[in-house]
Amino acid sequence: PLPRRVLVPTTDDMHALGARIADRLQAGDVIIATGDLGAGKTTLTQGIGRGLGAAGQIISPTFVLSRIHQSSTGRPDLVHVDAYRLSSAAELDDLDLLESLEGSVTVVEWGEGIAESLNPERLEIMVLRSADPTDDTRTVLLAGVGDRWTEAELDQLV
Ligand code: ADP
Ligand code: MG
Repeated sequence: PLPRRVLVPTTDDMHALGARIADRLQAGDVIIATGDLGAGKTTLTQGIGRGLGAAGQIISPTFVLSRIHQSSTGRPDLVHVDAYRLSSAAELDDLDLLESLEGSVTVVEWGEGIAESLNPERLEIMVLRSADPTDDTRTVLLAGVGDRWTEAELDQLV
């Protein structure tokens, strides 16, 4: 299936997109967010957290790899993983993170260009900056992998 494409002009719009995506998320869902440093992966995750009623500030963890944010609204908890600094998918696999989080929504911030085979069912979100450095607009591509993310389901996200 073709990825869905959304133009996101501002930080607020990225938060809103994340919250909209969160409306459709279920426990067990895994999202892989890719993009360069500063693209907006954490900003998107903040929006998802807002939509899930996630407690605590969502920031890029520097010294810890993952944080759990409990939902205060009865939605699934958010597990936020920053794998940007990992050099291989094997390192993430070693953590056995994704297998043990069936009751939560997991968002993994991932560096670009690392081939991986994480949870076979996943929503892949790529955040791209404009070629023009004075333009804040981000292009967000959403692609589903596995039966969970049907064409109809992807259309609900955008
Ligand atoms: P990453 O996690 O991908 O490294 P961050 O989300 O931490 O990136 O940083 C993105 C930065 O860009 C934030 O300071 C955010 O406010 C800013 N920004 C400006 N415009 C946008 C936009 N349209 N979408 C997302 N972030 C934006
Ligand atoms: Mg980040």
